[in-house]
Amino acid sequence: MGTVDKLQRLSAEPRHVVAICGGAVSGAEAAAVCAARGIAAIVIEQNPRPYGKIEDGLPRWHDKLRAQEYARINENLAHELIYFVPETRIGRDLDFAEVAREWGVSALLMANGAWRDRPLPMEDAERFVGKGLIYQNAFVHWFNHYEEPNYDGPRYEVVDEAMVIGGGLASVDVAKILNLELYRRALRDKGHEVDIVAMEHKGITATCKKLEVDPDALGVKGCTLYYRRRVKDMPVAFPKSGATEEQLRKTEAVREKMIGILRDKFRIRVIDCHVPVGPVEEDGQLLGLRFRKTEVKDGRAVEVEGSDVEVRSGLIISSIGSVPERIEGIPSKGELYDYTNWDTGTLRGLAGVFGLGNVLTGKGNIKDSRSNSREVSELVVADYLGLGESRDSDLMEGAHAAAQARAEELAESAIRRAKVSREKLEVIAAAIGKRWEAAGYEGDYGAWIDAHRPAS
Ligand SMILES: Cc1cc2nc3c(=O)[nH]c(=O)nc-3n(C[C@H](O)[C@H](O)[C@H](O)COP(=O)(O)OP(=O)(O)OC[C@H]3O[C@@H](n4cnc5c(N)ncnc54)[C@H](O)[C@@H]3O)c2cc1C
Repeated sequence: MGTVDKLQRLSAEPRHVVAICGGAVSGAEAAAVCAARGIAAIVIEQNPRPYGKIEDGLPRWHDKLRAQEYARINENLAHELIYFVPETRIGRDLDFAEVAREWGVSALLMANGAWRDRPLPMEDAERFVGKGLIYQNAFVHWFNHYEEPNYDGPRYEVVDEAMVIGGGLASVDVAKILNLELYRRALRDKGHEVDIVAMEHKGITATCKKLEVDPDALGVKGCTLYYRRRVKDMPVAFPKSGATEEQLRKTEAVREKMIGILRDKFRIRVIDCHVPVGPVEEDGQLLGLRFRKTEVKDGRAVEVEGSDVEVRSGLIISSIGSVPERIEGIPSKGELYDYTNWDTGTLRGLAGVFGLGNVLTGKGNIKDSRSNSREVSELVVADYLGLGESRDSDLMEGAHAAAQARAEELAESAIRRAKVSREKLEVIAAAIGKRWEAAGYEGDYGAWIDAHRPAS
């Protein structure tokens, strides 16, 4: 089907149209939910490829998981009712208000993930970015792509004794990247060429052993991960909700075991109960951090006055979490979007606009992003658009506030359930056509993906 045919078919007769910002795990899943019910889904994606954090966040040693997720996203997005709009960023190439209001879509789903690093909570930290301080998202993006011949993004030099500020799974990955790079370089100097993905699968210690190299003799000191609470509090494993005391203790033991493995297998130092409180700087360059020790009281890290220590390092990476990018028109509360209902992802003051996946859950986890995306999009299709059987949603029960917010949504749904008119569909088709032309996209998702594989 040609570009014009596909766009003409979109506006042939009034229909439901859902616009989706982001084409990765949750965006593709939501698009599939819509398409399966005969709703046209317009997937607006800022990058040429739609894989989001699977390609740019998950370190590339997750090769099997990556391939599996790429395949699933491709399968979802290839549906004929899905209009993929690559290289189009809401907030830059399209205004949020244009998509949310002027297009007159049945609903707008924000599946745009968390691409902004949570700012390091240290006074004036931002002025050191690129001057001794790096944030996690840019660093992992570099690691995943720098070996591609056409990579033209920022380049980072890994130095020994770097420090990582964090404690969650992503910070563990950052620390692993640092040590893998350091040991690969050291092994290369001794005449051993190792593949970084293979070394991650085996572990640094075991790789050295196989090569009959003493890792202690390589002269690598390795990186250090600093965490503000105790090792047993690290958010690398999570108890079920409503866990018993015994289950909580088990989770703590799992965390300690995981960090033990990290130390043994990847030679990473972990220092707990330390928070950065100030810079060590010279001529505007960050040369280190002043840490204050903490004690954990009622689950909170309480700073111990008079316990400051200064630690110097040539590379400091902040990996304390990712939050949604700010987009003009979307209300924020602190670092997050402002939702009236966290179960349905309803954004405050924006009828018909819902957040879903990582942007809503805040959990850096594929399974959670996918199941949350399915849940919210099924709900939008059934309850909000009034298509299909409304699920026996427990959202109407529970807290008074949640029920009230939900009732408001349902009232508004009555107004918004009408199909999108042909006039509006023509506006949408024209806007998509313009973006397709700018990107050189011809309406065939499979052909586009084939033409946009990273060079090797
Ligand atoms: C270092 C690291 C390690 C991880 N390891 C694991 C792991 O081992 N297991 C696991 O389950 N999960 C892991 N995750 C998390 C997992 O990758 C994500 O939770 C999941 O992929 C999120 O999916 P999503 O679709 O909700 O968001 P994203 O993948 O972030 O997708 C959002 C999409 O929206 C697009 N977008 C953003 N803004 C705009 C805009 N304004 N306009 C248009 N498009 C936009 C983006 O380009 C992207 O394609 C890890 C993450 C990181 C960073």
